[in-house]
Amino acid sequence: MLQRGFSPEAIHRALKPQPPAPPPPKSRWITWETGVEILKFGTQVGWACYKRRQYWVELEQRVLASAKDHDGILTHAQLLAALQFKTREAETVTLRLCKQGACRVEGNLYIFERLLVAAPICAYCDQPRPVSGRHLSCRHCGAP
Ligand SMILES: [Zn+2]
Repeated sequence: MLQRGFSPEAIHRALKPQPPAPPPPKSRWITWETGVEILKFGTQVGWACYKRRQYWVELEQRVLASAKDHDGILTHAQLLAALQFKTREAETVTLRLCKQGACRVEGNLYIFERLLVAAPICAYCDQPRPVSGRHLSCRHCGAP
């Protein structure tokens, strides 16, 4: 009789903590928290895309500035120099400029139509040659 009330089941019942309150039912799939996470993620992706685009635009600007300095024609070496010898980027930048119609490739020369100065043709090598500036001799054959 002394054992009454001290059965393992009764002790277990007495020690058992109250069950936790059930979580509130989720009314919507997107909670405020997941919404914030999605927004953060989207902002990061957007910012990364923006930075990436800015990077290429900056490289394009460098090439165009150099092309302007060289009367609208760049050799491959001059193009690489303008890109500070980022050889892996050179192809992409050239492709981007070509797609924009700013550049075309002829042999190993990059022609920037809009930056070309009216250049007479060299009598020695039939290549356009500058009329003014610091490149008075023919850049292709060196004729004075
Ligand atoms: Zn020449």
